[in-house]
Amino acid sequence: MPIQIVIDDGGWWSGEDGSARQEPYRTGIKRNHVPADYQAIVDLGQGLGIRPQAATILCEWDRKNILRKLPTSTWMGRKWDNSKWVGPWLEEAADIIRNNTRHYELTLHGIGHEYWAGRNFTRAEWADKTGVMRPLDQVEQHLDFYARLLDQNQLGPFPKSFIPTAFLHGFGPTKGHETSLAEVIKKRGISYINTPFSSMANAEAVQFGVFGIDAGVMTVDRGEDLFDWNIIGCKPATKISGPTCGMHWPNLLHPDPERNYEIVAGWVKYLAAYDAGFETLLAPDSTFFQQQLAHHVCTGMTINGQFIDLDFSRIQPVPAQISELQFILKISSASRLQFKTENIKLLADSFIMEKERFLYTITLERIPERPSARMECIKAA
Ligand SMILES: [Zn+2]
Repeated sequence: MPIQIVIDDGGWWSGEDGSARQEPYRTGIKRNHVPADYQAIVDLGQGLGIRPQAATILCEWDRKNILRKLPTSTWMGRKWDNSKWVGPWLEEAADIIRNNTRHYELTLHGIGHEYWAGRNFTRAEWADKTGVMRPLDQVEQHLDFYARLLDQNQLGPFPKSFIPTAFLHGFGPTKGHETSLAEVIKKRGISYINTPFSSMANAEAVQFGVFGIDAGVMTVDRGEDLFDWNIIGCKPATKISGPTCGMHWPNLLHPDPERNYEIVAGWVKYLAAYDAGFETLLAPDSTFFQQQLAHHVCTGMTINGQFIDLDFSRIQPVPAQISELQFILKISSASRLQFKTENIKLLADSFIMEKERFLYTITLERIPERPSARMECIKAA
Protein backbone atom coordinates (compact mmCIF):
# COMPACT_ATOMS: atom_id res chain seq x y z
CA MET A 1 0.00 0.00 0.00
CA PRO A 2 1.37 3.41 -0.94
CA ILE A 3 1.23 6.29 1.50
CA GLN A 4 0.94 9.89 0.33
CA ILE A 5 1.59 12.83 2.63
CA VAL A 6 -0.96 15.64 2.40
CA ILE A 7 -0.53 18.86 4.40
CA ASP A 8 -3.51 21.20 4.61
CA ASP A 9 -3.84 24.94 4.99
CA GLY A 10 -0.49 26.09 3.71
CA GLY A 11 -0.51 29.63 2.37
CA TRP A 12 -1.88 31.50 5.38
CA TRP A 13 0.33 34.25 6.79
CA SER A 14 -1.85 34.87 9.82
CA GLY A 15 -2.16 31.86 12.09
CA GLU A 16 -5.20 33.25 13.90
CA ASP A 17 -8.44 31.31 14.16
CA GLY A 18 -10.83 34.13 13.21
CA SER A 19 -13.97 32.01 13.01
CA ALA A 20 -15.71 33.78 15.92
CA ARG A 21 -15.57 37.02 13.87
CA GLN A 22 -16.64 35.41 10.58
CA GLU A 23 -13.04 35.25 9.46
CA PRO A 24 -11.47 31.94 8.42
CA TYR A 25 -10.23 29.39 10.92
CA ARG A 26 -6.83 29.64 9.22
CA THR A 27 -4.29 27.42 11.02
CA GLY A 28 -5.49 28.25 14.53
CA ILE A 29 -2.08 28.79 16.15
CA LYS A 30 -0.66 31.56 18.30
CA ARG A 31 1.90 32.87 15.86
CA ASN A 32 2.01 34.07 12.27
CA HIS A 33 3.58 32.04 9.49
CA VAL A 34 7.02 32.71 8.07
CA PRO A 35 9.02 31.41 5.08
CA ALA A 36 10.68 28.84 7.41
CA ASP A 37 7.27 27.13 7.64
CA TYR A 38 7.41 26.50 3.87
CA GLN A 39 10.94 25.23 4.23
CA ALA A 40 9.65 22.69 6.78
CA ILE A 41 7.50 21.08 4.05
CA VAL A 42 10.51 20.94 1.71
CA ASP A 43 12.68 19.48 4.49
CA LEU A 44 10.12 16.75 5.12
CA GLY A 45 10.16 15.92 1.40
CA GLN A 46 13.94 15.96 1.18
CA GLY A 47 14.34 13.88 4.31
CA LEU A 48 12.13 11.15 2.87
CA GLY A 49 12.87 11.50 -0.86
CA ILE A 50 9.24 12.32 -1.58
CA ARG A 51 7.02 15.17 -2.79
CA PRO A 52 4.46 16.05 -0.11
CA GLN A 53 1.27 17.79 -1.18
CA ALA A 54 0.84 21.26 0.29
CA ALA A 55 -2.85 22.15 0.03
CA THR A 56 -2.65 25.90 -0.39
CA ILE A 57 -4.89 28.86 0.45
CA LEU A 58 -3.97 31.99 -1.50
CA CYS A 59 -6.02 35.01 -0.33
CA GLU A 60 -3.20 36.35 1.84
CA TRP A 61 -0.93 36.29 -1.24
CA ASP A 62 -3.06 38.86 -3.06
CA ARG A 63 -0.63 41.71 -3.86
CA LYS A 64 -3.14 43.79 -5.85
CA ASN A 65 -6.43 43.30 -3.97
CA ILE A 66 -7.97 41.61 -7.00
CA LEU A 67 -10.26 39.67 -4.66
CA ARG A 68 -12.43 42.80 -4.29
CA LYS A 69 -13.95 41.54 -7.52
CA LEU A 70 -14.78 38.18 -5.93
CA PRO A 71 -16.61 39.12 -2.71
CA THR A 72 -17.68 35.54 -1.90
CA SER A 73 -14.03 34.62 -1.40
CA THR A 74 -13.11 36.73 1.66
CA TRP A 75 -14.47 38.17 4.90
CA MET A 76 -14.02 41.75 3.67
CA GLY A 77 -16.00 41.28 0.48
CA ARG A 78 -15.73 44.29 -1.86
CA LYS A 79 -13.60 46.13 0.71
CA TRP A 80 -10.90 43.45 0.65
CA ASP A 81 -7.54 44.88 1.64
CA ASN A 82 -4.53 42.58 1.95
CA SER A 83 -1.85 45.26 2.18
CA LYS A 84 -0.77 44.10 5.64
CA TRP A 85 0.42 40.78 4.19
CA VAL A 86 2.29 42.21 1.22
CA GLY A 87 5.99 42.18 2.03
CA PRO A 88 9.35 40.53 1.32
CA TRP A 89 8.19 37.25 2.92
CA LEU A 90 6.02 36.59 -0.16
CA GLU A 91 9.07 36.47 -2.41
CA GLU A 92 11.09 34.46 0.11
CA ALA A 93 8.41 31.81 0.43
CA ALA A 94 7.74 31.81 -3.32
CA ASP A 95 11.44 31.15 -3.89
CA ILE A 96 11.32 28.14 -1.60
CA ILE A 97 8.30 26.75 -3.46
CA ARG A 98 9.78 27.44 -6.94
CA ASN A 99 13.23 26.06 -6.18
CA ASN A 100 12.03 22.84 -4.59
CA THR A 101 9.34 21.49 -6.90
CA ARG A 102 10.73 17.94 -6.45
CA HIS A 103 9.83 18.13 -2.76
CA TYR A 104 6.82 20.43 -2.78
CA GLU A 105 3.61 19.89 -4.71
CA LEU A 106 1.36 22.92 -4.55
CA THR A 107 -2.18 21.52 -4.34
CA LEU A 108 -5.36 23.53 -4.87
CA HIS A 109 -7.18 24.11 -1.57
CA GLY A 110 -8.90 27.48 -1.95
CA ILE A 111 -8.81 31.26 -1.89
CA GLY A 112 -10.36 32.11 1.49
CA HIS A 113 -11.32 28.56 2.57
CA GLU A 114 -15.01 29.41 3.28
CA TYR A 115 -17.82 31.03 1.30
CA TRP A 116 -19.08 34.52 2.19
CA ALA A 117 -22.59 35.58 1.29
CA GLY A 118 -22.75 39.02 2.88
CA ARG A 119 -20.94 39.39 6.21
CA ASN A 120 -21.16 35.81 7.38
CA PHE A 121 -19.45 32.79 5.96
CA THR A 122 -20.78 29.31 5.52
CA ARG A 123 -18.61 26.24 5.17
CA ALA A 124 -17.04 25.90 2.77
CA GLU A 125 -15.54 27.41 -0.36
CA TRP A 126 -16.37 24.71 -2.96
CA ALA A 127 -19.40 22.98 -1.48
CA ASP A 128 -21.95 23.62 1.26
CA LYS A 129 -22.30 21.72 4.53
CA THR A 130 -24.09 18.85 2.79
CA GLY A 131 -21.44 18.56 0.08
CA VAL A 132 -23.54 20.25 -2.61
CA MET A 133 -21.35 22.19 -5.03
CA ARG A 134 -21.52 26.01 -4.93
CA PRO A 135 -23.12 27.73 -7.96
CA LEU A 136 -21.16 26.76 -11.04
CA ASP A 137 -20.37 30.34 -12.09
CA GLN A 138 -18.91 31.00 -8.61
CA VAL A 139 -16.82 27.83 -8.75
CA GLU A 140 -15.44 28.86 -12.14
CA GLN A 141 -14.64 32.36 -10.85
CA HIS A 142 -12.90 31.01 -7.76
CA LEU A 143 -10.78 28.83 -10.06
CA ASP A 144 -10.02 31.82 -12.32
CA PHE A 145 -8.92 33.96 -9.38
CA TYR A 146 -6.86 31.13 -7.91
CA ALA A 147 -4.97 30.99 -11.21
CA ARG A 148 -4.49 34.77 -11.14
CA LEU A 149 -3.08 34.64 -7.59
CA LEU A 150 -0.65 31.91 -8.67
CA ASP A 151 0.43 34.12 -11.58
CA GLN A 152 0.79 37.26 -9.45
CA ASN A 153 3.27 35.38 -7.30
CA GLN A 154 4.77 33.16 -10.01
CA LEU A 155 4.05 30.06 -8.00
CA GLY A 156 4.04 27.77 -11.04
CA PRO A 157 1.39 26.21 -13.27
CA PHE A 158 -2.14 25.43 -12.12
CA PRO A 159 -2.10 22.44 -9.71
CA LYS A 160 -2.90 18.88 -10.76
CA SER A 161 -4.44 17.93 -7.42
CA PHE A 162 -7.20 19.23 -5.15
CA ILE A 163 -8.11 19.01 -1.45
CA PRO A 164 -11.67 20.34 -0.76
CA THR A 165 -11.73 22.90 2.04
CA ALA A 166 -13.38 21.73 5.28
CA PHE A 167 -13.53 18.33 3.51
CA LEU A 168 -16.90 19.29 2.07
CA HIS A 169 -17.25 17.66 -1.32
CA GLY A 170 -19.64 15.63 -3.43
CA PHE A 171 -18.70 12.57 -5.45
CA GLY A 172 -20.38 12.93 -8.83
CA PRO A 173 -22.99 15.62 -9.57
CA THR A 174 -24.75 17.01 -6.48
CA LYS A 175 -28.26 18.39 -6.09
CA GLY A 176 -29.18 20.99 -8.70
CA HIS A 177 -26.04 20.41 -10.80
CA GLU A 178 -25.46 18.52 -14.01
CA THR A 179 -21.71 18.32 -13.62
CA SER A 180 -19.60 17.26 -10.67
CA LEU A 181 -16.91 19.46 -9.16
CA ALA A 182 -14.43 16.83 -10.35
CA GLU A 183 -15.57 17.39 -13.93
CA VAL A 184 -15.25 21.17 -13.56
CA ILE A 185 -11.71 21.07 -12.18
CA LYS A 186 -10.65 18.37 -14.64
CA LYS A 187 -10.96 21.04 -17.35
CA ARG A 188 -8.29 22.98 -15.44
CA GLY A 189 -5.95 20.00 -15.51
CA ILE A 190 -6.69 18.45 -12.12
CA SER A 191 -6.67 14.65 -12.18
CA TYR A 192 -6.76 13.72 -8.49
CA ILE A 193 -8.76 14.68 -5.38
CA ASN A 194 -7.99 13.61 -1.81
CA THR A 195 -10.71 13.96 0.87
CA PRO A 196 -12.19 11.90 3.71
CA PHE A 197 -15.09 9.79 2.42
CA SER A 198 -16.77 10.05 5.84
CA SER A 199 -17.84 13.64 5.04
CA MET A 200 -18.29 13.27 1.27
CA ALA A 201 -21.75 13.41 -0.33
CA ASN A 202 -22.61 10.39 -2.55
CA ALA A 203 -19.75 8.40 -1.00
CA GLU A 204 -21.79 5.25 -1.59
CA ALA A 205 -21.19 5.68 -5.34
CA VAL A 206 -17.42 5.13 -4.96
CA GLN A 207 -16.41 2.13 -7.06
CA PHE A 208 -13.22 0.83 -5.45
CA GLY A 209 -13.56 1.22 -1.68
CA VAL A 210 -10.69 3.49 -0.81
CA PHE A 211 -10.87 5.35 -4.12
CA GLY A 212 -13.35 6.20 -6.83
CA ILE A 213 -13.27 7.62 -10.35
CA ASP A 214 -15.43 10.75 -10.81
CA ALA A 215 -15.51 12.02 -14.41
CA GLY A 216 -12.06 10.48 -14.90
CA VAL A 217 -10.66 12.12 -11.75
CA MET A 218 -9.25 9.79 -9.11
CA THR A 219 -10.80 10.55 -5.73
CA VAL A 220 -9.01 9.02 -2.74
CA ASP A 221 -10.26 8.53 0.82
CA ARG A 222 -8.08 10.54 3.20
CA GLY A 223 -9.31 8.58 6.21
CA GLU A 224 -8.52 10.04 9.61
CA ASP A 225 -5.63 12.34 10.39
CA LEU A 226 -3.27 11.53 13.26
CA PHE A 227 -3.75 14.97 14.86
CA ASP A 228 -6.32 17.73 15.09
CA TRP A 229 -5.96 20.62 12.65
CA ASN A 230 -4.57 23.22 15.08
CA ILE A 231 -2.10 21.19 17.12
CA ILE A 232 1.41 22.55 16.75
CA GLY A 233 4.63 20.61 17.29
CA CYS A 234 3.43 17.03 16.90
CA LYS A 235 5.28 13.83 17.74
CA PRO A 236 3.52 11.10 15.74
CA ALA A 237 3.25 7.70 17.41
CA THR A 238 -0.07 6.06 16.43
CA LYS A 239 -0.54 4.04 13.25
CA ILE A 240 -1.56 5.51 9.88
CA SER A 241 -4.91 3.93 9.03
CA GLY A 242 -4.98 4.13 5.23
CA PRO A 243 -3.12 5.29 2.13
CA THR A 244 -3.12 8.99 3.07
CA CYS A 245 -1.09 10.49 5.88
CA GLY A 246 -3.16 13.65 6.23
CA MET A 247 -2.08 16.48 8.45
CA HIS A 248 -2.42 20.23 8.87
CA TRP A 249 0.49 22.65 8.58
CA PRO A 250 0.85 23.33 12.34
CA ASN A 251 1.34 19.58 12.95
CA LEU A 252 4.68 19.89 11.16
CA LEU A 253 5.83 23.10 12.82
CA HIS A 254 7.30 24.30 16.11
CA PRO A 255 5.96 27.30 18.07
CA ASP A 256 9.44 28.76 17.44
CA PRO A 257 9.97 28.57 13.66
CA GLU A 258 13.74 28.33 14.13
CA ARG A 259 13.09 24.97 15.74
CA ASN A 260 10.79 23.60 12.99
CA TYR A 261 13.52 21.11 12.10
CA GLU A 262 13.00 19.28 15.40
CA ILE A 263 9.38 18.54 14.54
CA VAL A 264 10.22 17.68 10.92
CA ALA A 265 12.91 15.23 12.11
CA GLY A 266 10.31 13.40 14.22
CA TRP A 267 8.01 13.01 11.21
CA VAL A 268 10.88 11.86 8.98
CA LYS A 269 11.83 9.15 11.45
CA TYR A 270 8.22 8.07 11.89
CA LEU A 271 7.38 7.98 8.17
CA ALA A 272 10.65 6.34 7.05
CA ALA A 273 9.53 3.17 8.84
CA TYR A 274 6.54 2.97 6.48
CA ASP A 275 8.87 3.06 3.50
CA ALA A 276 11.14 0.36 4.89
CA GLY A 277 8.28 -1.91 5.97
CA PHE A 278 7.07 -4.91 3.98
CA GLU A 279 3.44 -3.87 3.66
CA THR A 280 3.78 -0.18 2.78
CA LEU A 281 5.89 2.30 0.85
CA LEU A 282 6.00 6.08 0.68
CA ALA A 283 4.82 7.30 -2.70
CA PRO A 284 7.59 9.41 -4.27
CA ASP A 285 4.93 11.74 -5.68
CA SER A 286 1.17 11.97 -6.04
CA THR A 287 1.16 10.60 -9.60
CA PHE A 288 2.93 7.43 -8.56
CA PHE A 289 0.66 7.31 -5.54
CA GLN A 290 -2.42 7.06 -7.77
CA GLN A 291 -0.87 4.30 -9.91
CA GLN A 292 0.30 2.27 -6.94
CA LEU A 293 -2.99 2.64 -5.09
CA ALA A 294 -5.00 1.51 -8.12
CA HIS A 295 -2.82 -1.62 -8.38
CA HIS A 296 -2.85 -2.21 -4.65
CA VAL A 297 -6.67 -2.27 -4.69
CA CYS A 298 -7.46 -3.76 -8.10
CA THR A 299 -4.66 -5.97 -9.35
CA GLY A 300 -5.13 -9.62 -8.53
CA MET A 301 -2.03 -11.45 -7.39
CA THR A 302 -1.58 -15.18 -6.81
CA ILE A 303 1.51 -17.20 -6.04
CA ASN A 304 1.75 -20.45 -7.98
CA GLY A 305 4.92 -22.29 -7.04
CA GLN A 306 7.74 -19.99 -8.11
CA PHE A 307 5.46 -17.87 -10.25
CA ILE A 308 3.62 -14.70 -9.29
CA ASP A 309 0.58 -14.23 -11.53
CA LEU A 310 -0.86 -10.76 -11.95
CA ASP A 311 -4.41 -10.19 -13.17
CA PHE A 312 -5.36 -6.72 -14.41
CA SER A 313 -9.00 -7.35 -15.30
CA ARG A 314 -10.38 -5.37 -12.33
CA ILE A 315 -8.19 -2.34 -12.99
CA GLN A 316 -9.53 -1.89 -16.54
CA PRO A 317 -12.15 0.81 -15.67
CA VAL A 318 -9.42 2.96 -14.08
CA PRO A 319 -8.07 5.57 -16.56
CA ALA A 320 -5.06 4.30 -18.52
CA GLN A 321 -2.80 7.14 -17.38
CA ILE A 322 -3.06 5.62 -13.90
CA SER A 323 -3.54 1.91 -14.54
CA GLU A 324 -1.20 1.24 -17.46
CA LEU A 325 2.06 2.58 -16.07
CA GLN A 326 4.39 1.56 -13.25
CA PHE A 327 3.86 0.02 -9.85
CA ILE A 328 5.93 -1.60 -7.14
CA LEU A 329 5.85 -5.05 -5.59
CA LYS A 330 7.55 -5.95 -2.35
CA ILE A 331 8.56 -9.60 -1.92
CA SER A 332 10.01 -11.28 1.13
CA SER A 333 12.04 -14.43 0.53
CA ALA A 334 14.24 -16.78 2.53
CA SER A 335 16.67 -17.00 -0.37
CA ARG A 336 18.20 -14.67 -2.90
CA LEU A 337 16.11 -14.45 -6.07
CA GLN A 338 16.36 -13.58 -9.73
CA PHE A 339 13.31 -12.48 -11.66
CA LYS A 340 12.03 -13.22 -15.16
CA THR A 341 8.89 -11.56 -16.46
CA GLU A 342 6.29 -12.28 -19.13
CA ASN A 343 3.92 -9.60 -20.48
CA ILE A 344 5.34 -6.94 -18.16
CA LYS A 345 8.63 -5.01 -17.96
CA LEU A 346 10.88 -5.28 -14.94
CA LEU A 347 12.41 -1.82 -14.53
CA ALA A 348 14.35 -2.22 -11.30
CA ASP A 349 14.86 -4.57 -8.39
CA SER A 350 16.75 -4.13 -5.17
CA PHE A 351 16.75 -5.75 -1.76
CA ILE A 352 17.62 -5.18 1.83
CA MET A 353 18.27 -7.90 4.44
CA GLU A 354 15.81 -8.00 7.28
CA LYS A 355 15.85 -10.67 9.99
CA GLU A 356 17.82 -12.97 7.65
CA ARG A 357 15.27 -12.57 4.88
CA PHE A 358 15.63 -10.82 1.53
CA LEU A 359 13.13 -8.00 1.21
CA TYR A 360 12.85 -7.12 -2.49
CA THR A 361 11.41 -3.94 -3.95
CA ILE A 362 10.55 -4.50 -7.61
CA THR A 363 9.40 -1.82 -10.05
CA LEU A 364 7.24 -3.15 -12.88
CA GLU A 365 5.82 -1.39 -15.92
CA ARG A 366 2.78 -2.65 -17.74
CA ILE A 367 2.78 -3.38 -21.43
CA PRO A 368 -0.42 -1.59 -22.49
CA GLU A 369 -3.57 -3.66 -22.79
CA ARG A 370 -2.06 -6.97 -21.66
CA PRO A 371 -4.74 -8.31 -19.27
CA SER A 372 -2.34 -10.41 -17.21
CA ALA A 373 1.36 -10.93 -16.55
CA ARG A 374 3.65 -13.40 -14.82
CA MET A 375 6.87 -13.09 -12.91
CA GLU A 376 9.10 -16.06 -12.19
CA CYS A 377 11.16 -15.97 -9.00
CA ILE A 378 14.24 -18.13 -9.47
CA LYS A 379 16.51 -19.01 -6.57
CA ALA A 380 19.87 -17.46 -7.35
CA ALA A 381 22.74 -19.93 -7.46
ZN1 LIG B 1 -8.29 23.47 5.04
